[in-house]
Amino acid sequence: MAVDYKQSDQAVYETELKDFLPEKIFDGHVHLFDESCLPQGYEFPEKDCCRKFGGQFTLELCLEYIRTILPEQDFYLNSFGHPSVEFSLDSGAQYTGRVSDNKRYFGMAMVSPHDSIASVQKRISANRLIGYKPYLNFVDWKKKDEITIFDMLPDEQMEYADAGGLAVTLHIPRPGRLADHVNQQQMIELCRRYPNVKIIFAHIGRAYYLQNVIGYLDGIAGCPNAYIDTAMVNHEGVLEYAFNKFPRERILFGSDAPIALLRGKSVEINNQYAYLMGEDYQIGSTIYDAGHAVEFTSFYYEQLRAIKLAAGRAGLSGTEVENIFFGNAFRLFSQIAINLS
Ligand SMILES: [Zn+2]
Repeated sequence: MAVDYKQSDQAVYETELKDFLPEKIFDGHVHLFDESCLPQGYEFPEKDCCRKFGGQFTLELCLEYIRTILPEQDFYLNSFGHPSVEFSLDSGAQYTGRVSDNKRYFGMAMVSPHDSIASVQKRISANRLIGYKPYLNFVDWKKKDEITIFDMLPDEQMEYADAGGLAVTLHIPRPGRLADHVNQQQMIELCRRYPNVKIIFAHIGRAYYLQNVIGYLDGIAGCPNAYIDTAMVNHEGVLEYAFNKFPRERILFGSDAPIALLRGKSVEINNQYAYLMGEDYQIGSTIYDAGHAVEFTSFYYEQLRAIKLAAGRAGLSGTEVENIFFGNAFRLFSQIAINLS
């Protein structure tokens, strides 16, 4: 599988990113899986972005991409499987376990609220994983817009995570995302009820435009076990706000690869956001630039660009930048891994 990388991408790295990026990068939000996690002969839908990567995104392929796009960085990651109902959660966790050494590569199981606690325990402990990630798609008894955080995270799964001091990466539900009052209340309650769980709110609570974040980080900022990851946030204003309003030692860099390796940019439009896409894949609120009006680079580079701009505006020190890119995640996940044994 050839890595999609152009001279114009290299120019972005050389002129805008190289001098800013620290030596070590810990990507806390990567989806890795191979064919063993999917039904035999499974074909992704025509516009599914996994097609770009041959229907699987293995650790090897991920590292091939990273060597190309971050040629001078020492790379670490935390991974989980692919969030779809066709994906086998057990085979996925076994794959994650096989590629995780708990030193450089860490991993989480994907879980469904339908899973028995025994199966969740086995999935995590047999594969020596550092936590789990629930997903909206697995809540199948409600309309999507009505799903709550507590539907996604049954008590017994959270009690198990609390007892082991595990991490949970959470993609919050509901159309209002971070600004939704039910989410706000449940995010704080979740952190308080399970103080030993490290709860990582993915994508800064899915706040991809400014009005969705302003005023809505204070609640979880006050919870010492709440973290945010920056996955797929391309908006420098959102990142600047997070850098100013959320404890910097609890902010983790994450990309959401393989989606982050597509060509596109997430943009704010009239208090909403859309993915402007340079290639014809459907990843949510997509607007495809079929006429090639502009030349795109990857979401990965757009995220790094936005972090650079936001870090400058928020006045982050070099050490704070290093910690957001590496130290915060490395310390968090290494400590959980040590406690597993
Ligand atoms: Zn993701």
